[in-house]
Amino acid sequence: MSKNGTRAVKYVYDFTEGNKDLKDLLGGKGANLAEMTNLGLPVPPGFTITTEACKVYLESGKVPDPLRDEVSAHLADLEQAMGRKLGAPTDPLLVSVRSGAKFSMPGMMDTVLNIGLSDTSVAGLAAQAGDERFAWDSYRRLIQMFGKTVLGIDGELFEHELDELRAEQQAKTDTELTAAHLKTLVKRYKKIVKSETGQDFPQDPREQMDLAVKAVFSSWNGDRARLYRRQERIPHDLGTAVNICSMVFGNMGDDSGTGVAFTRDPASGQQGVYGDYLANAQGEDVVAGIRNTVALADLERIDKASYDELLRIMETLENHYKDLCDIEFTIERGKLWMLQTRVGKRTAAAAFRIATQLVDQGLISEAEALQRVTGGQLAQLMFPRFKDGEHTEGVRRIARGLAASPGAASGKAVFDSYTAIKWSRSGEKVILIRRETNPDDLDGMIAAEGILTSRGGKTSHAAVVARGMGKTCVCGAEDLEVDTKRRRLTAPGADGKGTVVVEEGDVVSIDGSTGKVYVGEVPVVPSPVVEYFEGRMHAGADDADELVTAVHRMMAYADRVRRMRVRANADNAEDALRARRFGAQGIGLCRTEHMFLGERRQYVERLILADTPAERDEALKELLPLQKRDFVELFEAMDGLPVTVRLLDPPLHEFLPDITELSVRVALAESRKDPHENELRLLQAVHRLHEQNPMLGLRGVRLGLVIPGLFAMQVRAIAEAAAERSAAKGDPRAEIMIPLVGTVQELELVRDEASRVIAEVESATGTSLGLALGTMIELPRAALTAGEIAEAAEFFSFGTNDLTQTVWGFSRDDVEASFFTAYLEKGIFGVSPFETIDREGVGRLVADAASAGRATRPDLKLGVCGEHGGDPESVRFFHEVGLDYVSCSPFRVPVARLEAARACAATA
Ligand code: PEP
Ligand code: MG
Repeated sequence: MSKNGTRAVKYVYDFTEGNKDLKDLLGGKGANLAEMTNLGLPVPPGFTITTEACKVYLESGKVPDPLRDEVSAHLADLEQAMGRKLGAPTDPLLVSVRSGAKFSMPGMMDTVLNIGLSDTSVAGLAAQAGDERFAWDSYRRLIQMFGKTVLGIDGELFEHELDELRAEQQAKTDTELTAAHLKTLVKRYKKIVKSETGQDFPQDPREQMDLAVKAVFSSWNGDRARLYRRQERIPHDLGTAVNICSMVFGNMGDDSGTGVAFTRDPASGQQGVYGDYLANAQGEDVVAGIRNTVALADLERIDKASYDELLRIMETLENHYKDLCDIEFTIERGKLWMLQTRVGKRTAAAAFRIATQLVDQGLISEAEALQRVTGGQLAQLMFPRFKDGEHTEGVRRIARGLAASPGAASGKAVFDSYTAIKWSRSGEKVILIRRETNPDDLDGMIAAEGILTSRGGKTSHAAVVARGMGKTCVCGAEDLEVDTKRRRLTAPGADGKGTVVVEEGDVVSIDGSTGKVYVGEVPVVPSPVVEYFEGRMHAGADDADELVTAVHRMMAYADRVRRMRVRANADNAEDALRARRFGAQGIGLCRTEHMFLGERRQYVERLILADTPAERDEALKELLPLQKRDFVELFEAMDGLPVTVRLLDPPLHEFLPDITELSVRVALAESRKDPHENELRLLQAVHRLHEQNPMLGLRGVRLGLVIPGLFAMQVRAIAEAAAERSAAKGDPRAEIMIPLVGTVQELELVRDEASRVIAEVESATGTSLGLALGTMIELPRAALTAGEIAEAAEFFSFGTNDLTQTVWGFSRDDVEASFFTAYLEKGIFGVSPFETIDREGVGRLVADAASAGRATRPDLKLGVCGEHGGDPESVRFFHEVGLDYVSCSPFRVPVARLEAARACAATA
């Protein structure tokens, strides 16, 4: 307690004090280091500064007052545990200062290693390690990293100096540089620091540490980090924790090294020994993919004792976390140290396989398995794949790299991020080709269809980031010589037909599932998961694809637990049948306007132009059998399931010719003194009906009320189709839906007319049709008066497209292409509200309207049929506010089924 009685905030936690559930406070890295420490695993001692401290710093520009003393106390404990003092002239303690937010943001924030080295302690380190070269190499790394990340000096300046020195000494690699060379390099680096900042490189170890901590805090708001968060939908206000950890060195000779490991293959989910190892190197060398690594399995040969211990630890971790873990480790002179673990990222296919494997192993329940996969991953698995590229005319395979992130992508070769962005903005599909990527390439990676690198393993920056984005990536295609300066790559050709040169703009195709790289465009084939949903591939077959079986099982769990039903938006029998195969439990939206296009448009034109009721009735009479046939087919396809047919909605002008074109035609005819009577009338009508804001104009129910007989004809077609299906022993379950209602009076008028028509059909056919009548809630006024509207409606279906448009005042057809990019960049929202429901605004209207409607009519059926019905995040929201079903495009139906179940399990 502090003096004034409030509990003092604790800003620093020793690794022994935290645990894996404290990710909000300690970040993922800190929480897991603590967890491993408490499991008794070999973690170098250290402590974590909380995200709360970061938030204070970012808000006020100052670290919180108590932080300095807390850090001093923890540092003193650390020094005592290690028997060394930070940066002491003899036998110094060195520490790393690493970022670590709640969510993994690979390479997006800063880290500084070797803190504590100075002109004096470098000698102490040399004595401690018995290796002068190593000590000077560590010192130059510190100045380089500190200079770039803490002091903001252009990293190229250091790189350039290193290149120069290598050239002077004719050294091919850094390892050929001696201690004396590195001493010279340190001198030159210090000069850079002085000339760039006007200050000497700080010699006080504590000052180094404090500055590094602030730099890590600030890196939370760096451009790279902000962009990554927007992409990954990570909130901007979480802040990062900072981990201060005693240094262990993987670059102390051949008995040292560093690596990354996965407890299962993050690409396929298979159990085994997966990872990369790099002898005599520091951690960053592996992740950056700068030098080529060996497979983890080779460590058994190199250092059997450490390898065996690592495998034991991997087993402990997997059993403890009950999931795939990824690990960073270092071996310092034969002693294994764990530097990080976390529940590892994985491909979509691996996620499904691992979830079912863990259920089979008895490690997790079916409900937990549902939380291990996402609708987004399922959507990814439904992407098409390449047909066997080798057999395509004009296509040559030029290399095979690592299958780093699945999918198939073709596009024009570009060799830098800038071009990737520029070309993609002008509508080109591009493949970003780099030797290796670094965080500066993020924009280009986002713009590209896929990413290809010639260096680096499955844990390189390119691979990790691409997997996170769900983007196709092939990395480490070592046969490719990538020349970014001349914007071309040279490949020996994997088919024995000689060298291939790919210039910027040539089409290449990459297969992220096999690692194959082609020049030319390879055709694609559907995904096995889609084949399964289509019923063309069976999960139970002996030779069933493991992935298909895993998806099948997860869908079965999902269907068992979900509360909400899933319907599809479909306007014809073909789409309806597909939706049914994909698991739809009805049609939530049949947009009848789609039935009036093509050659049927002429009838609508006639309807609009009719001068007399007789002419109008004539046009309607022609439309009736066509409409009826549409509905018969649809009800047959969805026999036994509900089909919500929405009466005509779109703006009238969509059925009329373009005003300019028609004016020109009429003017030309007039100049030829040959005006066409019909065209003149049409032009007058077009002028009369022309609207400045058609989206807010004569649409939906307004159209039905203004054009006599139109809705009646549609209702008759629905009723007669239902009667015909009943007579044929079918089970039609039609529901009639009125669009764009703003007040209950509109609905009452339509309802009365519809009831009359239905009664006529029922008595003429002697059938009781049981047709339900309801409305869309897609205007704010409708949502606000939902309690009254429910008196005239048997169901509501939320039209969240129009509701978003009208609540925000955003034209749904224009804004995404106009100012949304600026809005997203400014962080006004992290994702378009047309894509994911805006919970606070639009969502609130949905929630309130749902409860007001149910207050009036407790058995009111509630659904949603806007695009949000197939968006994972939004599905969760609709579950929470108690809707009965979501309706989405047929292809999204499996995604919605899965997410509806995940929502249940999450709120259970
Ligand atoms: C809606 O507005 O959400 C809706 C489903 O209707 P439409 O997209 O046809 O306007
Ligand atoms: Mg609408």
